[in-house]
Amino acid sequence: MAQRVAVSDGANKKVSRVRVVVRLRPYMGTHDEKDEGSCVRGLDSKNLEIINMRNATETVKYSFDVFHGEQTTQQEVFLSVKPILPHILTGQNASVFAYGPTGAGKTHTMMGSSNQPGVIPRAVREVFKMVNAKNEVEGWDYSISMSYLEIYNEKVLDLLSPGSQDLQIREDKDKNILIPGLTHTTITSFSDFDKLFVPASLNRTTASTKINQRSSRSHAVLLLKVVRTQHASPHRQQTGKLYLIDLAGSEDNRRTGNQGIRLKESGAINLSLFTLSKVVDSLNSSTAVRVPYRDSKLTRLLQDSLGGSAHSVMITNIAPEYKFYFDTFGALNFASKSKLIVNKPFICETVAVPALPVKRARDGQEAGRFGT
Ligand code: ADP
Ligand code: MG
Repeated sequence: MAQRVAVSDGANKKVSRVRVVVRLRPYMGTHDEKDEGSCVRGLDSKNLEIINMRNATETVKYSFDVFHGEQTTQQEVFLSVKPILPHILTGQNASVFAYGPTGAGKTHTMMGSSNQPGVIPRAVREVFKMVNAKNEVEGWDYSISMSYLEIYNEKVLDLLSPGSQDLQIREDKDKNILIPGLTHTTITSFSDFDKLFVPASLNRTTASTKINQRSSRSHAVLLLKVVRTQHASPHRQQTGKLYLIDLAGSEDNRRTGNQGIRLKESGAINLSLFTLSKVVDSLNSSTAVRVPYRDSKLTRLLQDSLGGSAHSVMITNIAPEYKFYFDTFGALNFASKSKLIVNKPFICETVAVPALPVKRARDGQEAGRFGT
């Protein structure tokens, strides 16, 4: 008999917050043709500040659960995700997603490269490690499987079965979300995973002629499922799901205004991303509001794995160059409910310059390219 840890909508149920981690990628000269330097800098392990373009005497300071600066390693980023992993071995659900504008480091963070593997390969290795350590000891058999899909234009496409049609998302009587027809393959080692994941990821980015457009507008969703079955009677069975998601670029969905994030509602370029931001907002707001899971494919899929009793981490990737200023501002406003205008110039020497903020940080000291 299958038994799940409850993921119910009980009226008095405590809904879990989404933990928000921000990662600032290193400055890249290639994104800074005007040689303007950086417009964002970290302050400590929770706080960062961004220059206020509308008033150069001010910066806007933001706080997060964790802030990872430019020097952060892939392993350090993984450590902010690692604590949620044990839950999927006990029938609970979890999700990790990378949010932020195209070019800010989402794919680097989630997938990484063979030299610098990201959160996904590290999490898969860790899950195998935990399962191997547990096997036999506690009287449960574990089985791990994977699915890999893409949500593009509100269509659910199976990346392990290229060429397949749009798949439907369903809910069973226990409120578990499932996708009938989606490939799910049992894997018994990290190398099983790698053999499927690497070519499927390549499929995703090369299948389209408009490579960048497509990969920046689709959500790549890896699902790892851990089923454990008790040896002894009553042979209880528990299923835990882990979603690891490289989201579409957040810049597609934003009309920048003076208060930052303003999502286009009509004909949303990316309905799933827009709805995800509303869902995370409702989960993290202190007042009880309806969580609009059903309004998009991505959030419908995540309904049993985001909020409720599920464990979630959102990694917001941002870039330091001025070129990304409005996208960064938007991403930060989405990621943080708290911000503070700090009446302190970014670079003292340039405060008096009323024009556009060119050459702001250029002459600053080397550390982080900011003068103080
Ligand atoms: P996104 O997926 O958000 O569009 P990418 O992950 O493709 O962004 O990153 C854009 C570029 O920046 C890539 O060349 C990537 O290798 C590089 N990059 C991103 N984050 C880092 C980082 N933390 N350290 C070094 N290079 C990075
Ligand atoms: Mg990418």
